[in-house]
Amino acid sequence: MKQAVVNCPQCDEIVEWNKTSRFRPFCSERCKLQDLGQWATESYRIPDKEQKIKEE
Ligand SMILES: [Zn+2]
Repeated sequence: MKQAVVNCPQCDEIVEWNKTSRFRPFCSERCKLQDLGQWATESYRIPDKEQKIKEE
């Protein structure tokens, strides 16, 4: 059987895509939290911008 693997988006580590890989597609909780942190920073910018437009 072919083993499904992915590369961790954060550090490029090979991650096995199966039920035991809790943090897939990330290799670890650390990489997952790093990515979520980046995503949260990005998403907070958009409402901030919209609010400014409404105020003007
Ligand atoms: Zn990683």
